[in-house]
Amino acid sequence: MATVKDFSVEEKLTAVLTLQKIDSKIDEIKTLKGELPMEVKDLEDEIEGLQTRIQNIDAEIDSINSFIDAKTEAKKEAQALIKKYEKQQDNVKNNREFEAINKETELQELEVKLNDKHIKDANFELKERTNQRLKTEEKIADLQEALKAKKAELDKIIGETEKEEKVLAEKSEEAKSKVDPRLLSAYERIRGSYMNGLAVVPILRDSCGGCFNVIPPQRQSEIRQHKKIIVCEHCGRVLVDTDLNDAVSEKMK
Ligand SMILES: [Zn+2]
Repeated sequence: MATVKDFSVEEKLTAVLTLQKIDSKIDEIKTLKGELPMEVKDLEDEIEGLQTRIQNIDAEIDSINSFIDAKTEAKKEAQALIKKYEKQQDNVKNNREFEAINKETELQELEVKLNDKHIKDANFELKERTNQRLKTEEKIADLQEALKAKKAELDKIIGETEKEEKVLAEKSEEAKSKVDPRLLSAYERIRGSYMNGLAVVPILRDSCGGCFNVIPPQRQSEIRQHKKIIVCEHCGRVLVDTDLNDAVSEKMK
């Protein structure tokens, strides 16, 4: 097409830079959305893990309570025996019998003490587990609050960006149609080969805005002259001067 030939280097650069800026916006939205679902999933997993912990604590509490019940029962039995022995002692016939009952009573008193100690220790454990349960429940409540906020944020972004993404996709197509075909294929190839999707970059502090290697002053001056398209000799990205970059940014506002 004859008209393509008429485009100046500056026009070509402007067109491809405009496309880059639109595509970068699309990338930004994708990145934003890309992390939120993961964050939501992480929170859900964490809450699930804590709920399992609560179930485990509850099982432990049940088992401690059963233990306390059993020890309380054993203590009562020992106390009942002591009472029985006390009555028997009122009717002893001889010293030998008295001694035997005395020994049995002492044994049961020891049993009462032992059970008391078990019950005391178990109650201490119970208190610890109850505290753990409380703290875990508080943590779950906090996480659920955070989850709610993240989900709302995600829903909002999805709602908002659906429209924006559609508009940007249309703008990208339109901008693409204005880029010189050879430059476009280079743009798409370079863009596809970098994680950040940058194929056209400005000079930033005397360096390539893509790979940050220093650009010699002579080359910088060539870039500013817009006589030919210049790519970074390190990363292959198309380089533009800051004036052109700012002008395109301004035009897109
Ligand atoms: Zn570079």
